[in-house]
Amino acid sequence: MPQLPTLRVIEVFASLQGEGLRQGDPTIFIRLAGCNLRCPFCDTRRAWRNGQEYSAEQILDKVKRLRERFPARWVCLTGGEPLLQDIRKLVRLLKKEKFKIQVETNATRYESLPFDWITISPKPKRYVYAPPYRKLANEVKLVVTKDLTLQTIKKLRRAFSGKTPLLLQPQSNRPWSVARALELIEESLAAGLENIRLSLQVHKILGLR
Ligand code: SF4
Repeated sequence: MPQLPTLRVIEVFASLQGEGLRQGDPTIFIRLAGCNLRCPFCDTRRAWRNGQEYSAEQILDKVKRLRERFPARWVCLTGGEPLLQDIRKLVRLLKKEKFKIQVETNATRYESLPFDWITISPKPKRYVYAPPYRKLANEVKLVVTKDLTLQTIKKLRRAFSGKTPLLLQPQSNRPWSVARALELIEESLAAGLENIRLSLQVHKILGLR
């Protein structure tokens, strides 16, 4: 991948992590622009746009300024799909500043980078993911759309270690999707599947970014 001098960024902001096992943890988010998918249920369509170009140093500077008033230890690289761009330098700079780094990826791309927490979210209908994530993902997040079935959950449960939770995340906390998530959890339990959990988007409930 060629080393580009700039990265396309949608926003850099401080908040609490609203999803997954890191839920509630103070985090500075770097939302990178662009996505290789076009999920019909996408709640971050603004990330499909081009964004603003910044150098890795400029992004780090924004993160450090946010840290002055919100001294979070974690940075989350999200999108869009953050692994579409060459983030090696940014990751290096963040590590030098002793940040812990989470990446949220749709799992279609893989980069061997020193992430501290890897959240993958394979998307319907094929739920593809790059093979290295089988061992490396800390959590597998599945948006509960009409396409998500017990069959898919079984297949993913078999593919990933039992220690890696499969998180069923209702689509934008919508009631039909919460109800479907609960049904799927019951069906998973009845099928003997372990470590299948509900994950609500707490930032949306609390009106955070
Ligand atoms: S992968 Fe994520 S950011 Fe990309 S279109 Fe799907 S939901 Fe949106």
